[in-house]
Amino acid sequence: MLTDYHLHLQPDGAAARAEHAAEWDAAGGYLSPAWIGRYTARARARGVQEIAITEHVHRFAEAREWHPNPWWRDEATEDLDAYCAALEAARAEGLPVLIGIEMDWLPDRQAEIRRVVSDRPFDLVLGSVHWLAERAVDHPDYLAWDTLDPEEIWARYLDELVAAARSGLFDVMAHIDLPKVFGHRPPESALARWPEVIAQIAAAGVAVECSTAGLRKPVGELYPHPDLLGLCARAGIAVTLSSDAHRPADVAAGYPTAVAALGGAGYRHLTRFARRVATQAPIADWA
Ligand SMILES: [Zn+2]
Ligand SMILES: [Zn+2]
Repeated sequence: MLTDYHLHLQPDGAAARAEHAAEWDAAGGYLSPAWIGRYTARARARGVQEIAITEHVHRFAEAREWHPNPWWRDEATEDLDAYCAALEAARAEGLPVLIGIEMDWLPDRQAEIRRVVSDRPFDLVLGSVHWLAERAVDHPDYLAWDTLDPEEIWARYLDELVAAARSGLFDVMAHIDLPKVFGHRPPESALARWPEVIAQIAAAGVAVECSTAGLRKPVGELYPHPDLLGLCARAGIAVTLSSDAHRPADVAAGYPTAVAALGGAGYRHLTRFARRVATQAPIADWA
């Protein structure tokens, strides 16, 4: 089977959401079964049987105080319980959708992360390193790249990635070589560290995702790079497959490229989740 385990129901940022609001308003709102059904329909059309909605934790009022960044605080307007209830309702209508969340790794907020996840019906929790303290590796307005040199950014990023993987908070580490998003490919010092980083992720028992989002970004390649995906496979790390789409049209985008890379890396199975319990399913033959 094929899955898409990293999806957002709206674009990031108030301006982009205002621009596209008419699309989900016409469906009855962005949490309506009709709007979520647009995602499952596009998945089905691309041969994908199961999806997970994984909204950013920074969208929810419950996380508003976690980060001092003004953009983060402006984004934190939604109700996490209403979100979970909407996904449960969509599933009750027969849509093949899992309840997920994309959780930022914030080392000072581990207790809060644990609390917000427990007692809620999540099937999977993605762990993402977007922030190095106050600076982001991928946010155009708060960029680490404006103030830090690439060697330092990659070094700090890899430290945080390992700490996040070892925290026990996450089921899947998302886009593990994200700092390349704008084309800042890893320097030699970072490339040399990958075997040790991968060994730590493997020892932590957390999965990684193969994401096609990078194909739609300036870097123009998968997360992780196919060579890195091969290292993950040889280390025995379980894998999920995802698009990180922020609109229905991008669900499962670029999957022929990703499925080929998974096969080339040696992966024969994808990881499925239900209530945070992982199982393995054979990757479908790609016609
Ligand atoms: Zn992300
Ligand atoms: Zn995402």
